[in-house]
Parts: sequence; structure tokens; C-alpha cells
Amino acid sequence: MRIAFIGLGNMGGGMAANLVKAGHQVRAFDLNEEALARARENGCDTAGSIAEAVTDAEAVVSMLPNGQIVLSAYTGEVFGAAPQGAILLDCSTIDVATAREVAEQAQHHGYEMVDAPVSGGIAAANGGTLTFMVGGSDSAFTRAEPILQAMGKAVIHAGAAGNGQAAKICNNMLLGISMLGTCEAFAMAQKLGLDPQTFYDISSVSSGQCWSMTSYCPIPGVGPLSPADNDYQGGFAAGLMLKDLRLAMEAAETADAPVPMGMRARALYEDFVGAGNGNTDFSGIIRTLK
Ligand code: NAD
Repeated sequence: MRIAFIGLGNMGGGMAANLVKAGHQVRAFDLNEEALARARENGCDTAGSIAEAVTDAEAVVSMLPNGQIVLSAYTGEVFGAAPQGAILLDCSTIDVATAREVAEQAQHHGYEMVDAPVSGGIAAANGGTLTFMVGGSDSAFTRAEPILQAMGKAVIHAGAAGNGQAAKICNNMLLGISMLGTCEAFAMAQKLGLDPQTFYDISSVSSGQCWSMTSYCPIPGVGPLSPADNDYQGGFAAGLMLKDLRLAMEAAETADAPVPMGMRARALYEDFVGAGNGNTDFSGIIRTLK
């Protein structure tokens, strides 16, 4: 299949390479020359603009920083330049309202579109093991699924347009809250004289168990290998967690959903990132509790 790929950053670079590995012809565009050079090394053809990349494309995949950029990329360049029959897939993490607006405009221009944000970081993007949560019609999902399968290990239909983004921010709000809870519990256990490994052995098989503890433990040397074992480098940057918590709070306000824990998590990550820790893994917030 001829696929246009827009946004070849930390995530998009590996995703585009996996589409090539799956046998697709990928024509890629990014504003950054180095990203374009890497894409060529990975077997992509490159274009000089979004409009040029999407000409003749049967599918368009985007992985961009935020909603404003996604909106202007689609309304300014993709719509009109991409052939009418092309299926459009935006994999960026953006706000629910913009995702729904872009999907509505796509429909107005005669395109089928899905929002398909991902769970999993750079390693999963490179390894083709992302989880995609997809919003869009049944027909758009059916067309998007095999393309997403080439970049991930799970592709789940979350419902109508925007529901992929809704699933993503609800999941990441829960992750932010559960990581903070896990950090608090370990920091307090230690102050009460408990050895962290002993607390892990108990809590990981008790009712406090959660993913933040048993797959991503914030204590070095405890649980499976995690960014804590690498001085909180790599993994999921605190700045990206803050981005997702802000999107979640915006959506909560629109939906009139009470999110007292989500608000607290956003405030704590705002302080952490504001203190210069935007690139630190999000589990590094435990340092502020010690
Ligand atoms: P990134 O900043 O590394 O990459 C974004 C790329 O988009 C850059 O290469 C940039 O040059 C390019 N770009 C910006 N504007 C453009 C335009 N108008 N046209 C073409 N290219 C343009 O970001 P990333 O880490 O790859 O994240 C991409 C998306 O994935 C974000 O929405 C992010 O929230 C989401 N995400 C990231 C992670 C992660 O761990 N990094 C995990 C899950 C989801």
C-alpha cells in the first residue's frame, strides 16, 4: 500500500520504519531534515511538503506534537491534496475536541478518518509493539486496522471519532495517579522502617498491586528493570505525562466530570516539570517525596 507518513520524531520515525518492514511504500514528511535523513535510511521515500507526501497516497498516517499542528496539517494540506479514497489515521495524542473537529472536517471533505493514539513509548514504537486505541466509524476502523497492526501488538476499537483520544487520556490520567500513589506508598514505607524490597514482596501480591508497581517500579533495584534502574532516564518523560494530564483536565471540564485526583496529579507534575524535570522519566517524581 502507498502510505504517506507525517511527523518522523521519536515515535513516528520507528513507526514509519515498521510500515516499510511490513512491505508498504512509505512517502514521509517532517519539518526536520535529520528526521527525513533517518527515514530515508529506514527505506522511506521523502517529500518536500505534506501536500507532496499525500499525493497518490492510499493512506495517510500522522504522528505530530499537538492538536493545533494536527488541525492545520489536515485542514491546510492533507484535505484536497490526498486522493478521495485515502483513509486518514492520526496517531498523535491530542485533545478530544480537536480530534472530533478534524474527523468532522475530514468527513465533510469526503474522507474516512480515525484517531488512533498509542500506549507505549519509543521502544514500543521502534519494536512495533504499540497499543492503538481507535475512534471512528466501523468502516474506517476496518480499513485502518491492518495498517495499525503493522506498527503494534494490539488495535482496539474504542467507538466513534474522538473516543480513541478519550481512552488514551483516561488511561494516562489513571497512570499518573497510580504512579503518584505507588511513589507515596514506597516513600512512606521506607520512612516507617520497611525495606523497599520487603514492601514490594508484600504489596505486589496484595490489594495495592498495580502496573506502576509491578511493571514500572519507581524504586531502583526493586521489581523488573525500569527507568528507576537507569537514574530515571529513558521511559516516559514527565513532560509528556504533564501534557496528557492537561489534556485530561481539559476534557474533564468539557464533560463536567469530577476529577479531584487527576487535578492533584496535574498540579504535582506541573511542579515537577517546572523544576526542570521535563525530560526525567515520570516515575522520578518519587524524588520529591523522599
Ligand atoms: P517528537 O517531538 O519527537 O516528534 C514530532 C515530530 O513532528 C518532529 O520530528 C517534528 O519536526 C514534526 N513536526 C512538527 N510539526 C510538523 C509539521 N507541521 N509537519 C511535519 N512534521 C512536523 O514527538 P514524539 O515523542 O514522536 O511524539 C509524537 C506524538 O506521540 C505526540 O502527540 C505525543 O504526545 C505522542 N506520544 C509520545 C510518546 C513518547 O513516549 N514519546 C508516547 C505516546 C504518545
